[in-house]
Amino acid sequence: MVCGSAGFVPLGQWGGHDIFRCTRCSFGFVHPMPPLSEIAAIYDRYPATELYSGKAARKIVRAHKRLKRYRHLAPGKRFIDFGCNIGTTVEAARRLGFDAHGTDIDAEAISIAGTLFPGSLYHAGPMETLPVEWGLFDFAFSTEVIEHVPDPESYFAALAARLRPGGVLYLTTPDAGHWRVPADFTAWEHVFPPQHLLYFTRTSMTHFLGRHGFDVIKFVPNLKTGLKLLARKR
Ligand SMILES: [Zn+2]
Repeated sequence: MVCGSAGFVPLGQWGGHDIFRCTRCSFGFVHPMPPLSEIAAIYDRYPATELYSGKAARKIVRAHKRLKRYRHLAPGKRFIDFGCNIGTTVEAARRLGFDAHGTDIDAEAISIAGTLFPGSLYHAGPMETLPVEWGLFDFAFSTEVIEHVPDPESYFAALAARLRPGGVLYLTTPDAGHWRVPADFTAWEHVFPPQHLLYFTRTSMTHFLGRHGFDVIKFVPNLKTGLKLLARKR
């Protein structure tokens, strides 16, 4: 799927969903993908506001630290958070002097973002519907989003098209290749389809990014089972 190989082994079942792993690059995925209607139904019941609003101040502080640590890599001041929820990272970027933008498929979260953190631009809808006039970006975040996406190729092609050459992407997602992932893969805390549908590893993520025009700058070491990486658009 991600690397072009057609060799897969079953990893087990979770909640009636079958999970497989690529024998070449270790990419894990749910197959068959649940229909979009089933995925949408889950998010209609997902209390995004309750989960995140109370933690907003702490999230801004954390995002501020991350942005400060990596901003020297970005070639300019145009920032976007792909999957921005209620806009805490967008707000942190704005406070650091970025021309900050945020997009999310969750219209309710975007409405809250616009109320809590005016001063940045927000868009509600799938990646593919991002306003053309927003142009290209120098620096982008995509944190804990891609594992939810049933069609990662389309999603990521739309994302990649929004970074200018030399632009930097900070991406996080669960790390299926981490030494702490249990031998029984379905016992791993990040395995819960239909929310989490894709399970990347360093190898499969490097393949995936490479095909979409990105070179990995570095993987950030992590004691938890999460991939954190910086990549640059060619
Ligand atoms: Zn593969």
